[in-house]
Amino acid sequence: MNSDNPSFDHPDGPEFRLDSLTRQWVAITAKRQTRPNLPGADNCPFCVGGQEASEPYDVKAFPNRWPAMVPGERLDLDSSASLEEASVPARGAAEVLVYSPDHQATFATLDRAQARRVVDLWAERTTALLERPEVEYVLIFENNGAEVGATIPHPHGQIYAFPFTPPVAEREAQVAADYGCPICAELRDRPDLQARTIDANGSFVAFTRRAAAWPFELLIAPREHIPSIEQLDDSERDDLADVLRSALSRYRRVFDEPLPYMLWIHPGVHLHVHIVTTRRNATTVRYVAAGELGSGVMFNPVSPEDAAAALREVDPQLHTAEALDSHG
Ligand SMILES: [Zn+2]
Ligand SMILES: [Zn+2]
Ligand SMILES: [Zn+2]
Repeated sequence: MNSDNPSFDHPDGPEFRLDSLTRQWVAITAKRQTRPNLPGADNCPFCVGGQEASEPYDVKAFPNRWPAMVPGERLDLDSSASLEEASVPARGAAEVLVYSPDHQATFATLDRAQARRVVDLWAERTTALLERPEVEYVLIFENNGAEVGATIPHPHGQIYAFPFTPPVAEREAQVAADYGCPICAELRDRPDLQARTIDANGSFVAFTRRAAAWPFELLIAPREHIPSIEQLDDSERDDLADVLRSALSRYRRVFDEPLPYMLWIHPGVHLHVHIVTTRRNATTVRYVAAGELGSGVMFNPVSPEDAAAALREVDPQLHTAEALDSHG
């Protein structure tokens, strides 16, 4: 596929190396540094007529031109004789998913029908990628705002399809196996959840986490124990589209300027969406620095209860009248 892609099957393509200190895989993607300068505002590759979109579209998925992982044969990552020396081609996939042909849109400004198309595309690409023999885990994510490294403003997210279950997802799965599903427990049992809930509808709830690592960190999850996005039915997909629009609209409106954000979706045990911002308030960047990187312990300067109260106060002003029926 995509034979004009410079990284596919190139000897200097991306590779995984095993970190001998942590025994976790690290992707070395140095080849990607050779990518050309990014296009200017009048030359957007995702607008209709641009480099990646010759035909009109509603939503669109395509391989990343400078992928961090590339398709290929399945590799047995556990059988290497000397893991400390291990270096293997970074098999998997990296895709771009464009949310709308409208260059000015964001997920928060999509109408329900368009947001639903994005949810359906996430499900479709997840199914297709998991059918490949070299893929074991599909991570859907979005970086929104220059501050978190988004280089093209046109609304889009990405997918990384990994040849192994990445450590964060693996850890969450292990905790659920050892202690029971924490999301079911939270939605069923926790009396303090109400104070941290910012949005709710028939099948989804959005709330700040009791032990949030990031200011304004949100978790969005279905009320039912549904493992993955492909398993959501028709109305659940509408509800996911709605709760995402509403939560991200609150992120846009809680301060004078939209909060930059990072969003990622964890399938596997109990489907959930994480959303975090790199700000601690309207103007102050929240850096993760030596004390946190060095210890693995996060120090969150904003209480999750205060963050929920601030986000709940916002009128999300969704694009259409067919919005959420109730706010938790
Ligand atoms: Zn554009
Ligand atoms: Zn659950
Ligand atoms: Zn998670």
